[in-house]
Amino acid sequence: MATNKDFRAVAISRNRTRCYYCGTELSPEEMTTDHAKPKSKGGSGHVENLRVACHECNGLKGDKDIDVFLEELSQGVYLK
Ligand SMILES: [Zn+2]
Repeated sequence: MATNKDFRAVAISRNRTRCYYCGTELSPEEMTTDHAKPKSKGGSGHVENLRVACHECNGLKGDKDIDVFLEELSQGVYLK
């Protein structure tokens, strides 16, 4: 099974270094690994379940399912 470290390497090699949620370009140091389906809800650590995210989005998403979080984003729940 791929680890988070592997995931980052894959993401970088595929030029997927933008936050999946807000689209901010991230340096390797800024990249965090988000679980589309949260680990707390049985989500796996497999690459298929991982997304590149910035610290802010990862923190906002918390342990929500990705569908819930994307819906909230589309509704502007987190707009300042
Ligand atoms: Zn973000």
